[in-house]
Amino acid sequence: MNKIANIKTETSRHLRQYELVDLVREYDPSVDENLLNKAYVYATKAHGAQMRHSGDPYYAHPIQVAGILASLHLDVQSICTGLLHDVLEDTEATYEDITEMFGEEIAKLVDGVTKLGQVELSVPNPTRQRRQAENFQKFVLAMSKDVRVLLVKLCDRLHNMRTLEHHPKAESRERISRETMDIYAPLARRIGIDRICSELEDLSFKHLNSSAYESITRRLEDWRANQKAAISQMSVALRDLTDEQGIAAQIYGREKRAYAIWRKLQRQGISFEDVADIYAFRIIVDDRATCYRVLGMLHTNFRCVPARFRDFISVPKPNGYQSLHTTILGPENRRLEIQIRTARMEDVAERGVAAHWAYKNESYAYDPEKAQESGGDPLRRIRPLVEMMEQSGDADEFLEHAKLEMFADQVFTFTPKGELISLPRGATPIDFAYAVHTDVGDTCIGALINNRERPLRTRLQNGDVVKIIRGGEPEPQPDWENMVVTGRARSSLRRLTRDKEVQEFVRIGAMLADHAFAREDKDFSESSIGDTLKRLGFKEPEELYHALGKGDMSIKHFMKAAFPGRESTKAMEDYANREFITDSTAKLYVKGDGLTAGVSMHLSDCCSPIPGDRIVGLQRPGKGVIIHTIDCDVLASSDASSDWLDIGWRRAAQHAMSTGRVTATVEHVPGALADVTKIIGEAGGNLINITTVQRSPTFFDMIFDVEVTDNRHLMQIIAALRTSAYVVAAQRMMGEFVPAQ
Ligand code: MN
Repeated sequence: MNKIANIKTETSRHLRQYELVDLVREYDPSVDENLLNKAYVYATKAHGAQMRHSGDPYYAHPIQVAGILASLHLDVQSICTGLLHDVLEDTEATYEDITEMFGEEIAKLVDGVTKLGQVELSVPNPTRQRRQAENFQKFVLAMSKDVRVLLVKLCDRLHNMRTLEHHPKAESRERISRETMDIYAPLARRIGIDRICSELEDLSFKHLNSSAYESITRRLEDWRANQKAAISQMSVALRDLTDEQGIAAQIYGREKRAYAIWRKLQRQGISFEDVADIYAFRIIVDDRATCYRVLGMLHTNFRCVPARFRDFISVPKPNGYQSLHTTILGPENRRLEIQIRTARMEDVAERGVAAHWAYKNESYAYDPEKAQESGGDPLRRIRPLVEMMEQSGDADEFLEHAKLEMFADQVFTFTPKGELISLPRGATPIDFAYAVHTDVGDTCIGALINNRERPLRTRLQNGDVVKIIRGGEPEPQPDWENMVVTGRARSSLRRLTRDKEVQEFVRIGAMLADHAFAREDKDFSESSIGDTLKRLGFKEPEELYHALGKGDMSIKHFMKAAFPGRESTKAMEDYANREFITDSTAKLYVKGDGLTAGVSMHLSDCCSPIPGDRIVGLQRPGKGVIIHTIDCDVLASSDASSDWLDIGWRRAAQHAMSTGRVTATVEHVPGALADVTKIIGEAGGNLINITTVQRSPTFFDMIFDVEVTDNRHLMQIIAALRTSAYVVAAQRMMGEFVPAQ
């Protein structure tokens, strides 16, 4: 009977290739042995020299998993999946490789098991259990598409639990045991594989509460020694009774496992001696009617304990379990539980959904007819569970049965094709899009959630079906980075922002170069600046534009390289304010009593006076006259007011263009610079240079040199800049640059 337990569990020994094939052929004579052999060899080779914590070769693990699956009499696809279940995750093998070698069905199953392993289980948080139940419900949903995926996963977990003592880390042993106890064991029970369930529970219990486990195990040994005689006596009595009645029956005993006893001790507040059914007899007969005959026979010959009689044949357990349970008073008035069932019921109890696979017409597969006998569709028992959980009112009830502390921080969502995308809680459609594929994220412009268009900031809920609406070009919006929670989405958005920024600098740089040429009445074209690029050490025009746009290179420097023979160009003159009006030209624009012919004049760099400003000239020996605006800090600190020259602008200056300097703090987002340059252009200013003073993740501090007609024109431009959503602060530059706070 103990088919599963019979599979070797010692770490030093694993199933040989022929042993596995024999095992499968025993219940499925038509098995495709080539396929099995191929999968066995493939797994061995793929895992190569990888080792388990136990010191065994890694491939021993998938082989043992395949053995457990064979003990459940599963189909060859499931066995192959068991052999291959870790190759996608742990080796070079790809989905395509598996498809080519073993066909799509097996590849899909392997992929399913791999994905299941990738669901990150998080630390228990009892205050959010309800949410966790909802999460878990999606987890089951995703799994139940093909129940074989779940079966392979359970056998995988069983073998890992059997070898868990080799895991070097105590925290990992505890986490894995907790996860097994709370998630996998209840799942095994749900699909009716009682034997796997109780072994999983027992192994977890051993790691989670080793002192209780050991003490119960010791008590059991004592108990066994004491009861040996009584049990064999009872066994003979039962045999005699069935023989007398001419009933063909298999009679054997089964002992409760340590964890099951522990649970009883806790739940019922009783002592070890009081646990009634540490040992139970099973009587397996041919048909349903005989089950009731045996029951009648027992109740005639022994006193029964009425409160403990259960008929799971007429009312099966939700997982399909069928049996009669009765407790009788045996020799010495000892309570003894007896379970009566047919061989088919026994099979279902042992193998659960796996019992619905059958050998038929040379093809070994799920057999609906055979399944019908014991409840139909193997997922029939899971589906109402899922529906039950979907009506959120029952989530708490479900929680009672399966503790689900594991999915607190996960939300399970689906693509329109039904693929599960698990995301951290709080994730938005943008996170979803990037989780599907980087290209999908980059081109995401909107989302349909459950067929309704929803804002991209919407937090996704469990079970949401998300369809991403895509545009052609990446158009990330400034606030998106605040809307995402996954690292993948965040880093992708940063990359996009960087790319956009580079594009913008290139565009602005090209515009600046074009303007500089225009002022020389030259047509600007990329073909005409080949030599200039070479001189400046650039390979591509874009590199030059980027440097100009970003302010890494001045227009003046560029123009010198473009027109190497010429002393100055208008753009070069325009570039620096102090060169704008010098000597003869300054005299054209500036008038004043103290000015003497031949004295050189400079417009000060610190305040960049422009026509319309009230100005003062400072006489500096050897440097001539420096012109400041009346409110410039430099004047305030100059005590020798006797040196001040009262000067003003000539009328002619009103018609010339001067360069004003604006400092601005601009948001560090795509589109910001484009907006700023557009505003300046629309206000009639001519942007001739941009310098980035300081850059932070959120803001740029920049200096714009803008050609304007006079100070009023400049103030209009500054006012217009302040209307921009991207401009945090803008002012005329006076004195040293101080970044806005
Ligand atoms: Mn595995």
